[in-house]
Amino acid sequence: MTIMVPSTATAPGRQALDSALHQLGQAAEHLGLDDGLRTMLATPRRSLTVSVPVRREDGRMDVVQGFRVQHNVSRGPAKGGIRFHPSTDIHEVTALAMWMTWKCALVGIPYGGAKGGVSVDPTELTTRELERLTRRYVNEILPLIGPEKDIPAPDVGTDEQTMAWIMDTYSVNTGYSVPGVVTGKPMTLGGSLGRAGSTSRGVQIAALAALGRSPEGARVAVQGFGKVGALAAQYLADAGCRVVAVSDISGAIYSASGLDVSDVRAWVAESGGVYGYRHADALSHDELFELDVDVLVPAALEGVITAENAPRIKARLIVEGANGPTTPEADEILAANGTVIVPDILANAGGVIVSYLEWVQNMQAYSWSAAEVEMKLRDLMEGAYGEVRSLATDRALTLRQAAHVIGVGRVAEAHQMRGLYP
Ligand code: NAD
Repeated sequence: MTIMVPSTATAPGRQALDSALHQLGQAAEHLGLDDGLRTMLATPRRSLTVSVPVRREDGRMDVVQGFRVQHNVSRGPAKGGIRFHPSTDIHEVTALAMWMTWKCALVGIPYGGAKGGVSVDPTELTTRELERLTRRYVNEILPLIGPEKDIPAPDVGTDEQTMAWIMDTYSVNTGYSVPGVVTGKPMTLGGSLGRAGSTSRGVQIAALAALGRSPEGARVAVQGFGKVGALAAQYLADAGCRVVAVSDISGAIYSASGLDVSDVRAWVAESGGVYGYRHADALSHDELFELDVDVLVPAALEGVITAENAPRIKARLIVEGANGPTTPEADEILAANGTVIVPDILANAGGVIVSYLEWVQNMQAYSWSAAEVEMKLRDLMEGAYGEVRSLATDRALTLRQAAHVIGVGRVAEAHQMRGLYP
């Protein structure tokens, strides 16, 4: 038996948690929250670590670590994605859960924040191994989840199929179909029109709102050509932007005259990655960050814009498709250089907004048209952007600071109104 327990010595997620705590600290200071409330907001409500045994195709059994963290449930059920990635650990999942709490409060949807993860590389598993892993992980976290308690969704390394297995595992244990236990499901199981592209649509809405000029010809670079990044590139290109560079784990590609994003997506669907795409030049991962572009969209993982590379970033605007891509040190450098950052908890909120709409439809056994979903998404995104922008202007804050002041402030207010039991 192989025990695949990641080393905690390096604790890769610690930096993400430190960033999240730093941002909370700044907002709490601005809001004048007392120490007790600050500690409560810095501490997850529930954290579960589980061992997930997986039967491999050759009969071996591997054991991987899984997590589910509910950071805060003061405003409603916990909500947050499930990530399958080799470097996922309890610190990273806690940071991601905390960001979910502020994000839901910021865009005004009645959820708390959660996140789940399994320390595994899904690309090394067969589909049947992935299904067994998913079902066993869900069994281990079963006491925490449910449509009124905690509702998972896709994140890095998981997709609609993963959500279908989760919905089925939960429903089999319950004895009847419970579509509302997860969002980001296939349409046939109660998924919502517009959910698949919702995070990317939100990134497009935020980018166009912050651009401050016509999108026609605006140069864009996207790091991470996955579920969020590929469609964000597509929607920005559809709006008239010139997407000059994109990257994924396989490599980065560049075309000064602009990439044909649909064609790159077709190449990725066929070959598995952007590497080798014929109508573009190869670029290093580092070079993509340093391109002279109008908009940079990090849409992969945390901690990629650091004090080391921030001084070389030329983009005027950064729109965070990913969660936590910018470290606090990089944030300061970029702010001093005049770079505007639309922060993750605002820029990528489109996903949880349409997840909420999917859940509302499931709870009502009703469905909305794609146009109705997009209109509600646009209303909530533009409303939140406007609130953040005007608070930032009024109080001389960065957009990240303003977004956190609003999100943290609403959660703090919910705690104060509810009082402390007993
Ligand atoms: P995904 O697994 O579909 O895509 C991730 C992409 O990043 C892949 O293309 C991968 O190859 C690429 N990548 C990984 N490491 C890279 C590197 N070093 N350089 C360049 N590319 C790299 O995941 P996703 O769902 O698109 O999530 C991406 C980010 O968006 C994450 O931070 C996630 O938390 C956030 N997010 C996702 C959603 C959602 O609805 N899926 C919602 C909100 C936020």
